[in-house]
Amino acid sequence: MTLDDLMDPPSKHYGDFLKFTLAQPESVSPANWQLANGTAVELWDTGVLVFNPPVTSGLDLILSSGIHGNETAPIGLCAAICQDMLQGKVVATQRVMFLFGNPPAMNAGKRELVDNLNRLFSGHHAKGPDEYSWERQRAANLEAYVTRFFQEGGSEKKRALYDLHTAIRGSKFEKFAVYPFLHGQPWSETQFEFLAACDVHTVLLMQTPASTFSYYASNSHGAAAFTIELGKVRPFGENDMSRFTACDHSLRRLITGASLKVPPFALANFNLFAVNRAINKTTEDFSLSFAANIENFTQLPVGSLLAIDGNTEYRVEEGGEAIIFPNANVALGQRAMLLVKPIDISGQTTRD
Ligand SMILES: [Zn+2]
Repeated sequence: MTLDDLMDPPSKHYGDFLKFTLAQPESVSPANWQLANGTAVELWDTGVLVFNPPVTSGLDLILSSGIHGNETAPIGLCAAICQDMLQGKVVATQRVMFLFGNPPAMNAGKRELVDNLNRLFSGHHAKGPDEYSWERQRAANLEAYVTRFFQEGGSEKKRALYDLHTAIRGSKFEKFAVYPFLHGQPWSETQFEFLAACDVHTVLLMQTPASTFSYYASNSHGAAAFTIELGKVRPFGENDMSRFTACDHSLRRLITGASLKVPPFALANFNLFAVNRAINKTTEDFSLSFAANIENFTQLPVGSLLAIDGNTEYRVEEGGEAIIFPNANVALGQRAMLLVKPIDISGQTTRD
């Protein structure tokens, strides 16, 4: 698929930026063109597309998907919005950047090729062997693109980055967001309202810095940023896209400057959790001690065995502890599971 196919109405792939990206997964020459509605489109790299409308409101928005290559639902969701914008059916009133994070892994149908891309931001890509993997180089490049996008918008603009994912396993709460550590700043009621408009009512509030894309955008650029988990990972073609209608509509309203259809913020409308502790994998002799298909946010009785790491046993220590993101197949030293607990943040939110 060529750039002309992407740009020109006669092509059956007109506006299909996902197909264009997957046809050139490692790199592509930059290009610029203009839509009939006056929006300037800039192709910066494979999977990196910027829309600059002639008149903009106050937001610079980044929508990323495919940071994990096999998380097809959010990739399809973003691809459809992007195609409607390229075809002029959706007219942006905000600057918008679409990012497909890991196109080679998307082609391979894998979460990653070598490194977990979402553990490489805020400079973590520079740690490790001198020879960079695709993911390490991509993380460095994505940081540069995010920096350039926000800098070109100017510091007076509001900034947001929504990094869309699907989880490896099912969840007691189908959709949930991870709110990166804010270093003591209050949580945003406007952003909680946006999450609710996306049918996301469960939020994990992080209390430490992280190597994720959303923490990077939040901490390095002052963006309202979230990792948003939209459900369980499935192959292309096997997603029930009706599960994502609220998210799809809300993103389109954000892009076009329409107001969100959502009731005013109230803490009672959310299930909020904070990390109680993390269990890291420290030996190759690491195993999880519960059923492989356990759902995120499952609570087990106090004393239940969670994992065995060499000679160390991990058990549920407190009532209310719930399991999230268990994964024995992580690299040594990385997080194999989080244990979270409900949290009350009354008085710690702000209207912004
Ligand atoms: Zn993911």
